[in-house]
Amino acid sequence: MTQVLATPASAALADRVTHWIDGARVPSTSGRSGPVYDPATGRQARTVDFASAEEVARAVASAKAAFPAWRATSISKRTEIMFNIRNLVAERRRELAAILTAEHGKVPSDALGEIARGLENLEFACGIAQLLKGSYSEQASGGVDVYQIRQPLGVVAGITPFNFPAMVPMWMFANAIMCGNTFILKPSEKDPSAALFLAELVREAGVPDGVFTVLQGDRIAVDGLLEHPDVKAISFVGSTPIAKHIYETGTRNGKRVQALGGAKNHMVVLPDADLGMAADAAVSAAYGSAGERCMAISVVLAVGDIGDALVDEIRARLPKIKVGPGTDPSAEMGPLVTREHRDKVASYLQSGADQGARLVVDGREHPLYDPSTGGFFLGVSLMDHVKPGMDSYENEIFGPVLQVVRVKDYAEAVRLINESPYGNGTAIFTRDGGAARQFQFDIEVGMVGINVPIPVPVAYYSFGGWKASLFGDLHMYGPEGIAFYTRSKVVTSRWPDPATSKVDLGFPRTR
Ligand code: NAD
Repeated sequence: MTQVLATPASAALADRVTHWIDGARVPSTSGRSGPVYDPATGRQARTVDFASAEEVARAVASAKAAFPAWRATSISKRTEIMFNIRNLVAERRRELAAILTAEHGKVPSDALGEIARGLENLEFACGIAQLLKGSYSEQASGGVDVYQIRQPLGVVAGITPFNFPAMVPMWMFANAIMCGNTFILKPSEKDPSAALFLAELVREAGVPDGVFTVLQGDRIAVDGLLEHPDVKAISFVGSTPIAKHIYETGTRNGKRVQALGGAKNHMVVLPDADLGMAADAAVSAAYGSAGERCMAISVVLAVGDIGDALVDEIRARLPKIKVGPGTDPSAEMGPLVTREHRDKVASYLQSGADQGARLVVDGREHPLYDPSTGGFFLGVSLMDHVKPGMDSYENEIFGPVLQVVRVKDYAEAVRLINESPYGNGTAIFTRDGGAARQFQFDIEVGMVGINVPIPVPVAYYSFGGWKASLFGDLHMYGPEGIAFYTRSKVVTSRWPDPATSKVDLGFPRTR
């Protein structure tokens, strides 16, 4: 379905992308900034400020000052505000989507899809009254009651990747602030404007100044947050090496950390599968959003003798994918985010071919791929006869490249997935319920699809991979998100007997 987006009414796409502190745009005085490109033209569109260490301190001080009043705000007031945020994001979704297209490059259907998944998280947080309920044990001992409550942590920060500039912040901030924390967002410097647009909506919804802050920047901003003693928890989504750095540094500094990393998601196709359905699923999961999704399928494991037929089915679908700028309503796949990233993705096509894979479709032959000028386009690519050990198999490509590995049986497919350092998502396509059930039992991956290629959990479950795809204990959003953004307190209480006005001050007995 084609989609037409609205021009953002706010100043969100200003030439200079600033911080958002104390409920207003705050330009940096650091003298440091970075370029933000329009990926469809390859031209620099604006600059983004980079925070200094002093600006990190200012942002944290603002969030810290806002915390006492915000945590004391009633649950019903916070809920009303969350409903307002949800409604404003829903009403203004086309403007927000236009910002995503302008800076990330994704086509409108992908941008609106991202916002729809983010909205689910805002809707989940509207139920915070139910989610924050504690527990109560009456008469745990003679005249003694024991109860558990959940309280916010204080200032918490979220550091987000380029590929979902609206959804991933929504994964984090909705639950964080509804639990009573104040939240600092450090968005990707590649597409930073969506964060400012969200900040405007959050303010309009009634969130007090200082409760939601945007700090723009690079490593200096991130390290400042990791080292600041008043930041109590860090949520991170990005690549594995940075996730590991965030987890190690944050925990060393005494913070609670959840750090989601990269992925290499395999889709198993068993010989009994409907190959047409599997090919449709592989194509949409591999090339949607130009493959820049941590849940994208990047490897198809063709089990048994179906390899030739499956590759034919996939190849037949590829010419129909229209590549173009997001401003073209008929475009289905946009450019990659930067020239550097596009060139890196293209380098895996070359190394794959050099190492013996067959390039069935080579995206570098697409007319919009012009390495010298223009937008950061790369056509869709299909590589067959890929083998473990090849660079393109071992590394996350994060682009519109689908690889097919032929395996002799189910056991080999499971072994390859379980040997991967990553464990974000996986899927199996089969008509055999017993085989699917065995797969869900065997596989060492955090999110599993059965005839579903991108099994991103709905907002009332939690999102997270295993192994090098997540550092930390708690997954993101959903019930585990509430656990992450709160800490538990257990109260043991005793009151004088109303009949005698006496209180037994002996040590609480268990019987
Ligand atoms: P990235 O790791 O380069 O950047 C993520 C964030 O970290 C950005 O805000 C960036 O400014 C910051 N950062 C980058 N280098 C840093 C450094 N040296 N020190 C401190 N901070 C630094 O990731 P990206 O390229 O923006 O996003 C793509 C990656 O994110 C892919 O690997 C993808 O798989 C992963 N991702 C994972 C999930 C998930 O849920 N597991 C979701 C989306 C994206």
